[in-house]
Amino acid sequence: MNISFHGADRDVTGSCHLLEAKGKRILIDCGMYQGGRELDEENAEDFGFDPASIDTLLLTHAHLDHCGRIPLLVKRGFNGEIITTAATRELARVVMLDSAHLQEEEAERDARYAHRRGREPRQALYGTLDALNALDQFGRTAVYGQPIELGPNLGATFHDAGHILGSASIRIEEGDGKRRSVIFSGDLGNSGRPILRDPQIPPQADAVVMETTYGDRLHKQITPSVEELYEAITETLRRGGNVIIPTFALERAQEILYYLRDGVETGHLARNLPVFLDSPMAISATEIFRRHPECYDAEACALFEHGRDPFALPGLRFTRETADSIALNRLAGGAVIMAGSGMCTGGRVRHHLRHNLWRKDSSVIFVGYAAPGTLARILIDGAQRIKLFGDEIPVRARLHTINGFSAHADRDELLAWHGALKPARTILVHGDEKAMRSFAERLHDTEVSMPDKGDEISL
Ligand code: ZN
Repeated sequence: MNISFHGADRDVTGSCHLLEAKGKRILIDCGMYQGGRELDEENAEDFGFDPASIDTLLLTHAHLDHCGRIPLLVKRGFNGEIITTAATRELARVVMLDSAHLQEEEAERDARYAHRRGREPRQALYGTLDALNALDQFGRTAVYGQPIELGPNLGATFHDAGHILGSASIRIEEGDGKRRSVIFSGDLGNSGRPILRDPQIPPQADAVVMETTYGDRLHKQITPSVEELYEAITETLRRGGNVIIPTFALERAQEILYYLRDGVETGHLARNLPVFLDSPMAISATEIFRRHPECYDAEACALFEHGRDPFALPGLRFTRETADSIALNRLAGGAVIMAGSGMCTGGRVRHHLRHNLWRKDSSVIFVGYAAPGTLARILIDGAQRIKLFGDEIPVRARLHTINGFSAHADRDELLAWHGALKPARTILVHGDEKAMRSFAERLHDTEVSMPDKGDEISL
């Protein structure tokens, strides 16, 4: 077995690992690099292998940084089978089509600028047609715990990673006589969160390739975070303002809906609290969540089996159409508006910020990670004024940053997962270098590697 690394190496985005075993070339994830403009170029770079030479692509989950370059892979010649769980397949469809649409939009915008400045326009990384072609290559569906054959004496088994709906760790085993195995952790979930089950421990393996996003940090408890959310909403509505929640469309949006429903049912929030989910992608994702109760934990399952929708509350409205979204700008107060993007880098949330940031009675609640340089980060860091759509806007709204919601395992959860597996070799990926090094120091009785992009490791 040989593994080479083509993304998320000493970095958290762009996951892409190539396993060669029994004459087959198996790719695990093919994600997008995310963050700043300079990363656009990294996405367009050569993959570091010939896409046409790949037999199978195994997809751990539907986040963009794990599936975002699949259409590009197909555009450049990959013609093999893509295997993932049923829920990931549906979510990846939404994510890849949305990404293609954004790429096309941005290329169009750039073409207008380029024309004026007399330079060559930037090409879209891929388009809708490439995403549709990629969707045609999704083949067999993986079921948690059931092996899938990848070739003679080569198989893969998906295990619930508890990170987002449909997410998996993948264990690959080769064997005739001497067996050899490796586990790719994918992104591992945060235990004890609603809706999803906790991450499962796959059967032992010789080596693990594991994520280290929070390899150096511990999460805050969830209960105080939920109370903080309820309090911030109640307070804002008492003042007569609106609550804006910049929302990540996958998982976080559904988790917040789940807590809002729970808050209404337990009397922490007003019975008819008006909530607007103003994100077509989050709306689609929520519909997909409803179709996959097989991924729920016991609590969410019980709700579902009693005919109750874990994501529905009496005052919830979906605003898919742009006109309905614009109509929300006229709301004088009293509403909770959830809109993307989570880091306020684009999307409808920027319009809601424009209409509410200058208002003392409104508030903005951040419930997720904000990368440096993003508008969310600038606001969290205390900017007094910001520029939006060419207007200068004073920041008078109350800002809340609630840190307890995370879809990732923290340091101790990662250590527990690793400790249960006791692999002879540990390969760390998907983390910044500082988190990775700090995590590596806590591992014992295992050979630890931190590959760079392009490195190859023989098992
Ligand atoms: Zn993820």
